Amino acid sequence: MTPPQKPLSRVVEACPPSGIRKFFDLAQTMKGVITLGVGEPDFPTPWGVRESAIHALTRGATTYTGNSGLLELRELICADLAARHGITYRPADECLVTSGVSEGLDLALRALINPGDEVIVPEPSYVAYQPCVAFAGGVAVPVAMDPAEGYRLDAARIAAAVTPRTKAVLFGSPSNPTGAAQSAEDLTALVALAEREDFWLVSDEIYDRLTYTGTHTSTAAVPGAWDRTVLLNGFSKSYAMTGWRVGYVCAPEPLAALMHRIHQYTMLCAPHVSQVAAIEALRSAEPDVTEMVADYDRRRRLFVKGLDELGLTCPEPGGAFYAFPSIRSSGLSSQDFAEQLLEEQKVAVVPGDVFGPSGEGHVRCSYATALPLLEEALERIGTFLSSRT
Ligand code: PLP
Repeated sequence: MTPPQKPLSRVVEACPPSGIRKFFDLAQTMKGVITLGVGEPDFPTPWGVRESAIHALTRGATTYTGNSGLLELRELICADLAARHGITYRPADECLVTSGVSEGLDLALRALINPGDEVIVPEPSYVAYQPCVAFAGGVAVPVAMDPAEGYRLDAARIAAAVTPRTKAVLFGSPSNPTGAAQSAEDLTALVALAEREDFWLVSDEIYDRLTYTGTHTSTAAVPGAWDRTVLLNGFSKSYAMTGWRVGYVCAPEPLAALMHRIHQYTMLCAPHVSQVAAIEALRSAEPDVTEMVADYDRRRRLFVKGLDELGLTCPEPGGAFYAFPSIRSSGLSSQDFAEQLLEEQKVAVVPGDVFGPSGEGHVRCSYATALPLLEEALERIGTFLSSRT
């Protein structure tokens, strides 16, 4: 028996597999590896949240919910956004509960893009952004941001890439992989550009609670931005809930209705029990978040200082749980650095070039790892570097 000979999707075939997975899979086959490779909290989901899900299951929360998600959850999400960022969305029709930010990202791009539309992606960028633009029929236009300027969103660089086909700029703040948290001033300049050139802003704010050097500015809260912003957020990172698959997307009508239409035919709804857990997270887990953030911050300080002492400098990451140091002093490419460090010292990091060509010369290290392991990782990286001088 032979499968059909007709070509499979060329768009998907042209998209390389995730470079993060490759290292993660390799590290899992080895013993004694300290992994700084995965972008996942090392804390368990707060107990109260887990308990609420257990109770929900005993009560039979095993069915579909309405397509948009439980109304109580949408009301809490909108109240939370209003309280923390001063932005207003109507729970009934401007807020959709999704299976993680991943689904929200896909919905936003599919609802926005016509074939050939361009989406500017400031780089280094989260690995899913550019493939998702391509899957939606668009053309991703990467634009490198400057490490010397802390990877701030530079509206002038973005402006240089705008064409009549520019439909949106897609970015995350705080950023995966650089940890850069964008300032109100830079976002304001970007919003002014979006108004002038008439494009959307797709703003991934999944790390909005994990900020250390200032408060988070939500893109939608910038004057003039609300009508042209798609806000993506979720529970995976802030509440240590990656496996629950629950997030949300907020946007004005009629875009929100189009995203809802795709979602009702593809995902139907986010997992019911996870939605109940998300309600509990918003109701009671703030103290847990505060504790986790304080812990990440301690690790961030220690780790960034340690890297610096080894000559692996990086702009201070203001949010998320990533450091993105330059490894140029080692003389190695980012792929070689990551491969040899894993092989010789059993420390897994992600080569910077998987986040776009401008990530070359850097590696991404996640400090969502216990302090003693971070200390040990720094020692091993030190041994690795000194074996090369
Ligand atoms: N957006 C960013 C910037 C991420 O780093 C990740 C996960 O690493 C996601 C989205 C995916 O989030 P979710 O688990 O909510 O699908």
